[in-house]
Amino acid sequence: MWGRAKATSPDEEAIAAAVGTTREVFLSGRTRSVSSRIERLRALRALILDNRSSFAGALWEDLGKSRQEVELTESDVVLGEISFALRNLRRWTRRRRVPVPMALQPASAGLLAEPLGVILVVSPWNYPVQLLLAPLVGVLAAGNAAVLKPSELAPATSRLIARLVPEYFPDGAVSVVEGGVDETTAVLAQRFDHIVFTGSAGVGRVVLRAAAEHLTPVTLELGGKSPVWFDDDEGLQEAARRIVWAKFTNAGQTCVAPDYVLTTPGRVEPLIAAMRSALIDLWGAEPRTNPQYGRIATDRHFDRLVSLFEGVDIAVGGAHDRAERYIAPSIVTLAQSGEMVIGPQSPAPVLQDEIFGPILPIVAVPSVEAAIHAINATEKPLALYVFSGSARVRRLFEERTSSGALVHDAAIIHVGAPTLPFGGVGGSGMGAYHGAYSWSSFSHLKPILRKPLRPDTLRAVQPGSHGIVRRLAQVLLRVG
Ligand code: NAD
Repeated sequence: MWGRAKATSPDEEAIAAAVGTTREVFLSGRTRSVSSRIERLRALRALILDNRSSFAGALWEDLGKSRQEVELTESDVVLGEISFALRNLRRWTRRRRVPVPMALQPASAGLLAEPLGVILVVSPWNYPVQLLLAPLVGVLAAGNAAVLKPSELAPATSRLIARLVPEYFPDGAVSVVEGGVDETTAVLAQRFDHIVFTGSAGVGRVVLRAAAEHLTPVTLELGGKSPVWFDDDEGLQEAARRIVWAKFTNAGQTCVAPDYVLTTPGRVEPLIAAMRSALIDLWGAEPRTNPQYGRIATDRHFDRLVSLFEGVDIAVGGAHDRAERYIAPSIVTLAQSGEMVIGPQSPAPVLQDEIFGPILPIVAVPSVEAAIHAINATEKPLALYVFSGSARVRRLFEERTSSGALVHDAAIIHVGAPTLPFGGVGGSGMGAYHGAYSWSSFSHLKPILRKPLRPDTLRAVQPGSHGIVRRLAQVLLRVG
């Protein structure tokens, strides 16, 4: 549904009209100049800073996120992206001269980064501010107009954004369509110049199919099972603390959260013991009463997660309460026989799909080679985390696995670095954004070549020119 009103049923005409209005703003050229891009980035910063309390309230209502967590994992990431874009914008937008080969001389050439047009951003519920507004930073910095589709599963945040956007972008360069599957289907029927989708692989396929109708390029930010390898006995306490912090922040509902840990059999028990005490340190002995510990977003996800406790041994946690959608931080192990299989073919449900909740399986494998084999036998993950004291092992993971990102001795923090591209590979997505990578994803680098009419050197390759001269020119020009 468009703008401020509450979504009831998709009004396709209203959605089409609204996308059309956003396109008119883009075609008017008002989003292109560097000064207007700076103005819009500042407007986005003001939208966040002026409404910190409202965002904290909405995210508490939607996901039980504490204010501290909202600032660290939602607004600060967007604000960091805005500062980075503001610092670099003039340099990025500068037209770059490029050399022209002798055969084409006299001529001059350059590269102009032009905006793509109207970009649709569709976001999920787990970081409903960050994953909607961080892409928007790059979209605006590159001079585009945007249509935002927040997640219906974070309704308070969606309503807040739909209310604030027209206030801070009164000219309509950014607009919001609220709603769920029907509304997203109606939006996707429209023609966009690029789509940024963050969500599950299943819906990613729906988006890609819809985009194909208009030959629209797509950035797909998907999820998957992000593994951890652990063998760093010296760093056991620190590694355990970092892994559980990354895993159980937002109650495990983070796309780059560690999904499972692979380690050798002798390390399972010491790792679990270290994780148990790290959990108490971070969220106390009773996380349910700690306002810093989140809740599961929906009943459906709660039921799905609780069913994963079947067939595993619960080493830590396991408590849950449907009325509150609370699941304690839980660490589980699996009795297994034969080769470890990760992914849809695994006999253990907890190892089949992305867990996306506060359950962490610790899986014993005989060796680092067996771990790499198991990881490579399934979809390429969005992130891979290696906690190893051995340079050889670190290099093995760097060279013999493929993932959206690889982080040594920490997890999830790479998302906060605007100097690193954020995105998946293979099953975890396509394309990347953040910092300068957003800029290049949402711009078209247009070559502009000028060849003066005089002297008319192109005559040499045209019919009627002398045979030898023509052949020579063709070789130099590599045409014909
Ligand atoms: P989702 O795919 O269910 O929904 C994402 C968006 O798609 C929502 O805005 C929703 O309204 C829309 N949508 C849902 N079903 C649709 C349909 N049939 N047709 C058209 N649109 C539809 O994802 P989610 O449950 O909100 O988020 C969880 C998933 O997102 C996990 O897989 C997680 O790993 C992934 N994720 C990835 C990243 C990343 O940056 N790579 C970040 C967060 C979450």
